[in-house]
Amino acid sequence: MVKVTYLGHSAFILEGSQGKRVMIDPWIEGNPQAPISLDQVGGADIYIVTHSHGDHGLEDAIKLAKRHGGTLVGIYEITLEAANKGVEKTVGANIGSFFEVEGIKVALTMATHSSDLGAPTGVVVELDGKRIYHAGDTGVFYDMKLIGELYSPDLALLPIGGHFVMGPKEAAKAIELLGVKRVIPMHYGTFPVLIGKPDELREILKERGIDAEIIVLKPGESYEF
Ligand code: ZN
Repeated sequence: MVKVTYLGHSAFILEGSQGKRVMIDPWIEGNPQAPISLDQVGGADIYIVTHSHGDHGLEDAIKLAKRHGGTLVGIYEITLEAANKGVEKTVGANIGSFFEVEGIKVALTMATHSSDLGAPTGVVVELDGKRIYHAGDTGVFYDMKLIGELYSPDLALLPIGGHFVMGPKEAAKAIELLGVKRVIPMHYGTFPVLIGKPDELREILKERGIDAEIIVLKPGESYEF
């Protein structure tokens, strides 16, 4: 069983049955959706940051890693920045293949977006034999089909807010390309321009005959599978 807890925007905690804890894009301070403070959220075995934008939590991940230990993981330039700011354990990588950190398999994937440090990424994490794909910030791209074929995600965390990332129409196409059956929408409702809604996504999937369960989590809620 993997427990997936939503912290609002694109921030998630994944917890495996062996007590492994993974945080992805842990933007807590200044995140209007965060249900918990940085002092309460605790640490993790690994902190994965998909890109450098302030709403994806590199600064908070650095603070948490320095406070609680754990390894900061991301594209090489992200981890270099973390190491320069005093994080002891970092594993820099690039878009390529699975690698193992603290006993957890991680693969960085492409994302069509921007970043001040290296390239933006998505990430696939394997925990308890389940594969979770966090798309980071991205538009839809045809190679999502390749991510589906190579990594067969059991669950995808996909942005749907539009403007900076996919909207519902593009996210429906992403679900089709990935062939994924469970999806948690993210990166919507945080700012006024992020107008995409989970119900719109459901509607488009229904119209297009794409079979996937859309799991809507309020910040602070968890999903186990
Ligand atoms: Zn971004």
